[in-house]
Amino acid sequence: MRILVVEDEARVQSFLKRGLTEAGMAVDVVSDGESALQDARSAPYDAIVLDLTLPGLDGLEVLQELRAEGSSIPVLILTARDSVNDRVHGLDAGADDYLVKPFAFAELLARIRVLLRRGAPHTNEIVVGDLVIDVAKRSAERSGQNIDLTAKEFALLEYMARHAGEVVTRTMISEHVWDINFDTLSNVIDVYIRYLRRKIDDPFNAKLIKTRRGVGYVLQAES
Ligand code: CA
Repeated sequence: MRILVVEDEARVQSFLKRGLTEAGMAVDVVSDGESALQDARSAPYDAIVLDLTLPGLDGLEVLQELRAEGSSIPVLILTARDSVNDRVHGLDAGADDYLVKPFAFAELLARIRVLLRRGAPHTNEIVVGDLVIDVAKRSAERSGQNIDLTAKEFALLEYMARHAGEVVTRTMISEHVWDINFDTLSNVIDVYIRYLRRKIDDPFNAKLIKTRRGVGYVLQAES
């Protein structure tokens, strides 16, 4: 899943970038409100982590503008402003969640997971046939056998599983599993699909990853 971090403090920026990347997310970071708006409009982020006190447009103005434009992207405000008034303003402006600094990284991650499963059942598990993915534990198993995946393989599988039964194109994959440095001319997605197939499908009779030639891929249980 791809996250936009809006934060002007370098130390917090690198902390967030490192932590979220380690958790398997694709992360882009911007330091001011105008860039946040620009990026949020130009790439389909799965969630935004938004600081409030920023140079130029502040976080609340960014949020209000996004909502005024009709964006329903999940937004978590991460700020040192901890008064009840601030929280109420943030939530009223359209934030989905509000976390006060200093914060425990595990809690931030858990809250982001909640945002990412919005509209889905209250569980961290995604089930596709005999494949079970736990996005909190970052584990995957098929027919009860644990499957060892790298962070990027897991991120790709998680994205496809969230869209099980739907065709996901290479563009969709690149936009949600890779960050802004993705090289559109590379064949890295096909390479990672091959890695995944080797682990998810090759040892089993029923194949879950299907190629739609010229379009993309589908993760789907045999019907
Ligand atoms: Ca700030």
